[in-house]
Amino acid sequence: MNAMSNDRTLRQAPGERSPGERRDGRWNGRPFAFVLRVDVEHREAERYTGDPRTERVATVALLDLLAEIDLRASCAVLGITAEHYPDIVRRITEAGHDVLGHSMFHEPAYSALSLADQRWDHRRSREAIEDACGVTIKGIAAHYHGLTNDETYAAAALEGLDYLLGRRPEGLPEDALGFAPYRTAGCDRPILAPAGGRLGASDWSARRREWPWIEEPWSADGARIEWRRRIDRAAETGALFSLVVHPWMLHINEGEWSVVRDVVAHARTRGAWLTTFGELAAMAKNG
Ligand SMILES: [Zn+2]
Repeated sequence: MNAMSNDRTLRQAPGERSPGERRDGRWNGRPFAFVLRVDVEHREAERYTGDPRTERVATVALLDLLAEIDLRASCAVLGITAEHYPDIVRRITEAGHDVLGHSMFHEPAYSALSLADQRWDHRRSREAIEDACGVTIKGIAAHYHGLTNDETYAAAALEGLDYLLGRRPEGLPEDALGFAPYRTAGCDRPILAPAGGRLGASDWSARRREWPWIEEPWSADGARIEWRRRIDRAAETGALFSLVVHPWMLHINEGEWSVVRDVVAHARTRGAWLTTFGELAAMAKNG
């Protein structure tokens, strides 16, 4: 919460909604925010493309694209990927991207682990990434699209992390800018959890059957239309829009490179604040 949004709330009659006027400028002077999240996970690349090195090639190519379009991404790196491909993680941080954790092995889901095992996983992920690139992660983007429980948040808080992107807790402020402090039962230290208006999208592959809702083959045209539509919706409602992409999917999905380029340009045209989860978490932490 910042002074500007307090101000606007005060001037606004309760329940009155005029998104353009009310929401303008909440996001660092912009009407909405855009985050590109890149999940870097050679194990998934191996599982679905047959070759773990796909991740290496595709991540390097993606870093080139991000430099070309001048975009900083939030890269969620698997601990075991940091161990096996430390040079990739170094490239990510040297290029100025935000790095965060994405679990140690990508399985099982956090919700299937005890508190102690989840703490171990957070700790081990942080060490692996630190060893690879010298950067200490402050946050984790849970794998399996946020299959987490309250203990995942408690574990991350107890391990000293600042934020966790997992299942969205209830009861957090609806006007939060991406994150809000969340306190789990039996844990004194709060952790930042997803909060406020959010819209998202992810690339997909019909090879990945763990996502039961994805039966359709990848379609660049379909993704372009849908992702642009959701960006428009974020712009209209003053929400945070986050797009999750996977280097190995960019490698096998025909046309995905141009879709990413196109939707980032679209977000810029709509006036997005192009930011990272690290930046949003720092903002939430410092008030
Ligand atoms: Zn993942």
